[in-house]
Amino acid sequence: MARKPSKATLAATAPSEADLWKIQEPVAKEALDFVTGFLGCRMGANNDELLDDTAKGRLMAILRAVSIVESRHGTVGKNQPKRDPIQCGNPNDVWWRELTGQLGTGSRFVRFPGLGNYWANEVGDAAEREGNFPPAAMRGLLAKLTDGHKNASFAPAHSYVWGTLYLIHRINAKAGDKSYQCGDLSRDRLIDGAVTYNGGGVADYRDRLIKALAEFNDPLAAVFPQTRFRQTDLLAETLAAIKRSGHAVARLEVTYLNSTSLASVSIDMLGPVTYRGAIKVLSDELSLGQKVPDDSEINVCGPIAKKITRSDPEFQQLVENVNPNIVFKDEEGTGADRMMTDRLRSGLAKLAPLVSSEWTGVKLRVTEAWDEDNEHAGASLHYEGRAADITTSPVDGSKLGRLGQLAVDAGLDWVYFENSAHVHVSVKK
Ligand SMILES: [Zn+2]
Repeated sequence: MARKPSKATLAATAPSEADLWKIQEPVAKEALDFVTGFLGCRMGANNDELLDDTAKGRLMAILRAVSIVESRHGTVGKNQPKRDPIQCGNPNDVWWRELTGQLGTGSRFVRFPGLGNYWANEVGDAAEREGNFPPAAMRGLLAKLTDGHKNASFAPAHSYVWGTLYLIHRINAKAGDKSYQCGDLSRDRLIDGAVTYNGGGVADYRDRLIKALAEFNDPLAAVFPQTRFRQTDLLAETLAAIKRSGHAVARLEVTYLNSTSLASVSIDMLGPVTYRGAIKVLSDELSLGQKVPDDSEINVCGPIAKKITRSDPEFQQLVENVNPNIVFKDEEGTGADRMMTDRLRSGLAKLAPLVSSEWTGVKLRVTEAWDEDNEHAGASLHYEGRAADITTSPVDGSKLGRLGQLAVDAGLDWVYFENSAHVHVSVKK
């Protein structure tokens, strides 16, 4: 007996955003992989780190949001949404006209140093010359290039490849960076850039992007893996994310790593779609007893060969640290705390300015370096001048966790938040 499908059944058969994306995702991913490789994309404060999977995931998220807003992944709109899901091939739009040489040279695509740079009217040929260019995106497949997505053979591959190239260029250009420089890939950076991809035609494009991101749990709001967040920044970010969402908060949970460090903030919000986000942080402080790297000192820095005394020839290899930005305790009154290997001296020289810029009026203080008085355990690296015990000056125990992290940032080989009185740092030979 035939039955009319119930309302619930109908709803269940309508494709979800996730289902629609599943269809486009492989094409979009191939496009993104190609474009980031072609531009030589880098990230980080100095834009010298290769994109990791998390970074690529963030770019994929903004691309997915654009794809929702532009055409609901090829299913909505009057302008050939099926062929052109992210609407890069509209023959009247600036980008397609730039790419096809109708606006002179067009935008400047600046790639990783050494790869060469191109104007928009050259970048198509250069991209297609690459061995891994997605063949389905070749412009030669189009009968009349300037007609863009009016060509019957315009395909989603064209849309995602040429659209993603422009999207990434726009995101980075909007942030004041070169095409390949992806910076911190922060949520605001990605959204601000994606708004300029639209070119201003849609007034509420930003709101639409934010709504689109919420449809798939807004991975951009949920995770901030790139940056070490200070506690205050973390809370401010969380509150800003809540405000941006426009939704009421159902639950806010804050967990602590230790008495001074936040571990995570997680939020549940009420809204048209239930939003759930957890912000994981890499703490910006070491906790008491923590070692970085998490391995034994001997494994990281190597064992001592002997306890150096003043009469040993090895003593001549040690240097006296006279850095005026460091306070030396010198409780022995012998100057021994200033004696160390050159590697340790240069590590501390990098750390000292980090300390002074972290806290106004505060200096790095060394309470112990080379030890000639057998004050340390058996084979301590202090005996070779390869270890130092450090605090701040003025002394403030609550700063030690952060001091430990700064020592890690300064590149000291092994950092150990040894006890509540000091941080122990050591270096390789
Ligand atoms: Zn020590």
